[in-house]
Amino acid sequence: MKPPPFTYHAPVHLDDAVRLLAQAGGSGKVLAGGQSLVPLLNMRLAAPAHIIDINALPGLDTVRVDPGGVRVGALVRHSVLEGHAAAVSAIPLLRQGLRLVAHPVIRNRGTTVGSIAHADPSAEMPAVLALLGGEVEARGPAGVRTVAAADFFTGPMETALAADEIAVAVRFPRPAPGTGTAFAEVARRQGDYAVCGVAAAVTLDADQRISAARACYISVAPVPLVVDLTEAVAGRAPGNLDTADAEALAADRIRPEDDIHATASYRAHLARVLTERALRDAGRAALNSLD
Ligand code: FAD
Repeated sequence: MKPPPFTYHAPVHLDDAVRLLAQAGGSGKVLAGGQSLVPLLNMRLAAPAHIIDINALPGLDTVRVDPGGVRVGALVRHSVLEGHAAAVSAIPLLRQGLRLVAHPVIRNRGTTVGSIAHADPSAEMPAVLALLGGEVEARGPAGVRTVAAADFFTGPMETALAADEIAVAVRFPRPAPGTGTAFAEVARRQGDYAVCGVAAAVTLDADQRISAARACYISVAPVPLVVDLTEAVAGRAPGNLDTADAEALAADRIRPEDDIHATASYRAHLARVLTERALRDAGRAALNSLD
């Protein structure tokens, strides 16, 4: 199918992009990698009057790694971040999540910030941002503001971004020392959106016992759902971890629904299995990080 008619803008200054978006008054859409927006247009599930293409804006294609974490600009493609040695060494969960996003061809064009702005509850990188407690830098007519991940995702494909704001970057904080991470998911075919997925972070204390554990669930709630699992595994050794209490805690919090891909009960079953897998892998990674 063809997209509905729209006016195409390709500004070369960020100020102009923000102005165009504000002038569109809610009928404008940012175009980044186009890997989600263009299919939506072609299927006529979106019909914005104005498309503001941000690909010519300078300075948005950089990855910055500092002691606090990794800042990813709005035009950084998934594949660039996945291959950024310093970024994935600082935060291994970036690559653990990115390798599960679609196929390499889509990752070559799609942007990590675009995925977060799109806020699909089945997408991996919103979960990575939510689990790590990252933030989004939003630029609007009044300037730049920072939105914590916990406040950013407000519903399926809904965020705290105003209609006249552009997400110019996201910031992923470095996990605490002694933390290991993992991302486990089940998809019907490799590269499909997950039927269920779990990102996990496990932190060990000086005695190599678990002091903190968190998981973020995708495809089982309207937004990436972070669950603090510490009380279920605190004080335990990460090797051969018994995750039954953590699985029960997570099962209490998630709200899976039936859809054409899976029943709610199958998703709930997967959430338990993947909780075990992700927590054990994250625990092993935490042990390795101490070597
Ligand atoms: P676009 O398509 O350009 O934009 C998407 C939406 O976000 C639009 O509403 C746009 O206005 C808005 N937006 C984009 N950037 C900004 C910004 N900087 N500020 C404000 N708003 C912005 N994703 C996964 O996570 N997991 C998968 O398994 C997966 N599988 C896929 C399979 C296929 C076949 C396809 C086509 C896509 C898949 N994707 C998957 C989506 C892919 O990751 C996209 O790249 C991503 O969702 C959107 O990034 P984009 O840069 O292409 O954004």
